[in-house]
Amino acid sequence: MNQVRVRFAPSPTGFLHVGGARTALFNWLFARHSKGKFFLRIEDTDLSRSTDEAIEAIFDGMRWLGLDWDEWEASETNPVRQTARFEIYREKVETLLAEGKAYRCYCSPDELAARRKEALEARKVPRYDGRCRLLTAPDPERPAAVRFKASSEGEIVVDDMVKGEVVFDSRTVDDLIIMRSDGSPTYNFCVVVDDVDMQISHVIRGDDHLNNTPRQIQLYEALGYTQPRFGHLSMILGADKSRLSKRHGATAVQQYRDEGYLPEAMVNYLVRLGWSHKDQELFTLPEMIEKFSMAHVGSSAAIFNPDKLLWMNANYIKTGDAKRIAQLLRPHLEGLGVDAGQCDPDHLLRVVKALRERSRTLKEMAESAFYFFSDKISFDDKAKKFLTVENLPILGAVRQKLEGVPFEHDPLQEAFRSISESMDKKLAKIAQPVRAAVTGKTVSPGIFDVLEILGKEKALERLDDQIDALS
Ligand code: GLU
Repeated sequence: MNQVRVRFAPSPTGFLHVGGARTALFNWLFARHSKGKFFLRIEDTDLSRSTDEAIEAIFDGMRWLGLDWDEWEASETNPVRQTARFEIYREKVETLLAEGKAYRCYCSPDELAARRKEALEARKVPRYDGRCRLLTAPDPERPAAVRFKASSEGEIVVDDMVKGEVVFDSRTVDDLIIMRSDGSPTYNFCVVVDDVDMQISHVIRGDDHLNNTPRQIQLYEALGYTQPRFGHLSMILGADKSRLSKRHGATAVQQYRDEGYLPEAMVNYLVRLGWSHKDQELFTLPEMIEKFSMAHVGSSAAIFNPDKLLWMNANYIKTGDAKRIAQLLRPHLEGLGVDAGQCDPDHLLRVVKALRERSRTLKEMAESAFYFFSDKISFDDKAKKFLTVENLPILGAVRQKLEGVPFEHDPLQEAFRSISESMDKKLAKIAQPVRAAVTGKTVSPGIFDVLEILGKEKALERLDDQIDALS
């Protein structure tokens, strides 16, 4: 086979949608697996939506997921943007006109709308009736749209990599406008011209584009180009089986980043939305690249399951490289007002190691880590129940004992054990008020780990504060 060359071609909407990210990932994996090329193409012909910010949001999402793209040698911009190619589309339109494969259409939008209404009233499928095809002397000076002369003969067969053979009756394909009367080229036309110029071998995209494929195939034929192979990915649905939308929760990839998801968890989750390899759920990136194949992309719709994504995220937090997680945790701490730039890296690392078993997101981890960093801890209601006059002797005994103990796990454990013996109370009865006093909570990692990470100075200060308040 010739080199695999694929592309992800988003129209900027202001964020990278989960569905778009899945399409990008499948293209990327397919390219990386076969040592081919993966291009990004920004379809920015809708000028009202294609702001620099909206385009930047796509780059941002792609970079976060780690989906790097190759540079298309022939493009002046990287990645390629359709707005930079208007001249090329216009030239191709001229060629089709000169060859008699396209024609000028003078029908006004009002006329078209009236005919459409008529057709609908007569219960017919509205399509352009082709009347301007018959004009013998079109006036090149008069504003006109340009329509492609579609063929209505026979069938158009798409041999789809995901859906199998999909057959379209050519009579359903009408004469598509390829350039509007204001001179702007249209989506289906630009896509074909670009895919040909970029020598795209496989077009892998959402199946919301399946109905465009027969039109595009006719354009390939008219322009004398060989078609790529097509693969249409089934839509991603919410739990209620309707198309994934904001009603089902976050749909922007960046929102997951902000909620404290790891990119590797997101990528792993996305790859399983339609692709499978036996019953394996967790994949490293190299494993995904090695095992990915379009042959194992299912044709039924995938259901987005936020609980599974959360489970994967917890798993990656638990097992990932602690240093990297510490790095990723910083912005979440900053979000809570902690000056994470000032944090000692070793201290941060110890916090991550203590909390990773019990945090499902980085945001959760930052919230649970707050008392390690801030001087102003807050006490939740459950913790307050342990900070009572009855427990004052325990806090006092611990305070006194800890003064002379090195703040390391084993000596701390030894100290607590001896207090528990001398006071004739279970270890948990001693630990819980101490935990409440130093963390403000009743749930935390083991008390000896907490004290060790907190350090003697802070721990004793917090005990003193509670002893003073209760005395
Ligand atoms: N720009 C189109 C979209 O964002 C994709 C076109 C294609 O992949 O052919 O839906």
